[in-house]
Amino acid sequence: MKRFIEGENRSQSTLLPECLDDYITEDNPVRVVEAFVDELDLLALGFGGVEPATTGRPSYHPSVLLKLYLYGYLNRIQSSRRLERECQRNIELMWLVGKLAPDFKTIADFRRDSGEAIRNVCQFVILCRRLNLFSQAIVAIDGSKFKAVNAHDRNFTHGKLEKRMRQIDQCIERYLTAMDTADRQQSDVTEIRTARLREKMVTLKSQMKELKQIEEQLKDSPSGQVSLTDPDARAMATSTSRGLVGYNVQTAVEPKHHLIVAHEVTNIGTDRTHLSRMARQAKEAMDTDELNVLADRGYYSGDEILACDEAGIVPYVSKPMTSGAKAEGRFDKEDFVYNPKTDQYLCPAGSHLIWRCASVEKGHLINRYWSSGCPRCPIKEKCTPGKERRVSRWEHEATLEKMQRRLDTTPEAMRIRRQTVEHPFGTIKYWMGARHFLTRTLDRVSTEMSLHVLAYNMKRVMQIMGVKGMIAAMQA
Ligand code: SF4
Repeated sequence: MKRFIEGENRSQSTLLPECLDDYITEDNPVRVVEAFVDELDLLALGFGGVEPATTGRPSYHPSVLLKLYLYGYLNRIQSSRRLERECQRNIELMWLVGKLAPDFKTIADFRRDSGEAIRNVCQFVILCRRLNLFSQAIVAIDGSKFKAVNAHDRNFTHGKLEKRMRQIDQCIERYLTAMDTADRQQSDVTEIRTARLREKMVTLKSQMKELKQIEEQLKDSPSGQVSLTDPDARAMATSTSRGLVGYNVQTAVEPKHHLIVAHEVTNIGTDRTHLSRMARQAKEAMDTDELNVLADRGYYSGDEILACDEAGIVPYVSKPMTSGAKAEGRFDKEDFVYNPKTDQYLCPAGSHLIWRCASVEKGHLINRYWSSGCPRCPIKEKCTPGKERRVSRWEHEATLEKMQRRLDTTPEAMRIRRQTVEHPFGTIKYWMGARHFLTRTLDRVSTEMSLHVLAYNMKRVMQIMGVKGMIAAMQA
């Protein structure tokens, strides 16, 4: 006869009552959260309310709320309302916070008011460094766009605004014509129709008034954008056609264990200006004298590469293919060989391009070279449509050439970059559930991202060392 596995009777009493700790096994990740937060100096990190106030109602200790959030981000429960519910039914949380059940507002206020302190907790990387998890002095840097709490329709640029105003003007024009027609054909039906059209006109006029106010705000916005729901969110281009309104999250990831060494949330849509700052943060976090940095062509910027070089950071950034001459089938700048001893270029026809003049363009000193033999050159049509081929050289071009030589001799660099840095973004976005940030403004979104990064790094280290190993390392 077949049988089923039977559960226990709910009303069964036990002779020796079980305690909450019996439900939490020794290798339960919730024990890592407990050990981690207990080891933190919350006062030094900047948390308020560590010392109880002498007056007023007793408050929750910040360690309780920090544990709650860390548990939540480790288990994909990021919303304060869901955390409030989980406190009342989740045994792990009951164990972690001693059966306390703060309301959602207290939980949300803690995240809002302790932004900087929570971001300081992200110094988890110091522990990783102590555990020798950063054995290679390499990081890959990349950025990814994350959606903000701001719909496309509530983000305005000059172009969008003009288009919307034009549409409203056209609608008003149409309605006025329709009202004129209705006036000429007087009947009960047309009266109702005219009243409806008047209502629509009132709505359109109030919309136009709002747009005029936004126009004023746009004049004062340096980024040329205004977002109504989250004022710091910006429309950004993505690989999808529509783009998104959100933030650009930058990370530096080490290749061995894929731990996020440094991160930053920005509302600048491109990656070009972030390389040296992210690299410096990673270097400091890893406490290394020399650091190799891998990045894609979105980060290619002479100034940034030079700044890395000057800070003892070795960048590997692939060059974007933007040569107009090459696209038109003519010789590219790379076909000209520079000789630093003579300060001349050797062209494909064997002529020497000598230094002729220098000028300052966008703050860069640019030297120009050309040859007087160009007009008589037999392969001139493959080189230039002008009188002579001029080659420009930035005063620090040697730094870029040195980097290109490194890239040529390290063909695997870009493969390592791709394998390293793209996976953490995918994981974090998966945990977020393909949705937008829950908070608004750059400061709060940065706090939210710090919690995501901390949870990601903790999970990675748990996988590497195991729960017991990690607890022992933290308490050592
Ligand atoms: S056009 Fe001038 S620079 Fe170009 S290949 Fe001929 S000589 Fe050299």
